[in-house]
Amino acid sequence: MKILAINAGSSSLKFKMFEMPEEIVIVSGLFERIGIDGSGYTIKINGEKIKKEVELKNHEDAVKYLIEELIENEIISSLDEIEAIGHRIVHGGDKYADSVIITDEVLNDIESFSSLAPLHNPANVLGIKAFQKLVPKATVVGVFDTAFHQTLEEKDFLYGVPYEWYTKYKVRKYGFHGISHKYLANYMEKKLGKKEFKLITCHLGNGGSISAIKNGKCIDTSMGFTPNAGILMGTRAGDIDASIIPYIMEQTGMSLDEVMNSLNKESGFLGVSGVSSDSRDIEEGILENNQRCILTHQMFVKSVVSYIASYYVLLGGVDAICFSAGIGENSSKVRKDIIEALSVLGIKLDEEANNVRGKEALITTSDSKISCYVIPTNEELMIAKDVYNLVK
Ligand code: AMP
Repeated sequence: MKILAINAGSSSLKFKMFEMPEEIVIVSGLFERIGIDGSGYTIKINGEKIKKEVELKNHEDAVKYLIEELIENEIISSLDEIEAIGHRIVHGGDKYADSVIITDEVLNDIESFSSLAPLHNPANVLGIKAFQKLVPKATVVGVFDTAFHQTLEEKDFLYGVPYEWYTKYKVRKYGFHGISHKYLANYMEKKLGKKEFKLITCHLGNGGSISAIKNGKCIDTSMGFTPNAGILMGTRAGDIDASIIPYIMEQTGMSLDEVMNSLNKESGFLGVSGVSSDSRDIEEGILENNQRCILTHQMFVKSVVSYIASYYVLLGGVDAICFSAGIGENSSKVRKDIIEALSVLGIKLDEEANNVRGKEALITTSDSKISCYVIPTNEELMIAKDVYNLVK
């Protein structure tokens, strides 16, 4: 069965087509700068890259080109061969704890959650509508980034604010990156060969989050009401004292929008280092003895270690910790410094095994009390699996 996994942003559309249940990637690609000058796409088929500059006025244009390429390259002979399409949806509110087939009611819900995710849900809806129009026979499935965290209990998802903020305005922790955390939890369940296990998953990318998982269910996660909570990130501040916001508005004359933009796009690695949001640049800065890059790295490691330590206690011990996403999969320095800071828990790094990039590895010694792994995440495959399970 051919299944498309789609991740639509406001000006981009990423896709991967799988043959399921074999989990074979047939084709993947990215449409960029939709609605902006200089738009185009890159598609990878059988290791070969096709790159074209074309005008993409909207998401529908992108879907039209995608269909054309699929037919021209004989990946499909007719649209009927695309049986199902799974869309990554950022916010499923507190209603969706699992992936669902998208009906008119679900689509209305996704639109209504736009107030909670104004940058993401409207773009996800554009993607869904474009495919519904151009591939009308395919079953459409929504796979929510918040769903995996819906198992949090009230004591874990509530903030210490007036209770009515929750009941009237839905202010609570939702958590994000759920598709990735779920993928890692499923992967580790198979790897550990048991259903009862305690796991901490560290998705460390440009955005980053950490989850505590007990027997496959998420019991806490570091992102919150929005993705701008938890650990230090590429451009996001993570956890801060809310009182900083009115104080900076008063001191600088910045508007609320400007301060929030700064907390989302000019903070984190970029804000602290003054150099870059990219961890590779921070690591280069450290080699050049740039003090602010050193500080950024120390703050990042501390924020990750604090969450891991707190989840260790919350879970009552841990069987395994896994590192994933751009930084988690690639930076041996970040993993080394995190693991060494956790040595009080009896974790012992295997330096040689830790010298790995982008592939699965056990990076702790055989006498380490907790096993740490590098596990490349695969959100698109998680989407395709959920879709397959719903439509098969
Ligand atoms: P993601 O959001 O998962 O794509 O991750 C992006 C982050 O991963 C950026 O901060 C990159 O600098 C980082 N990253 C990617 N490759 C490497 C690498 N080889 N070494 C260190 N960091 C990397």
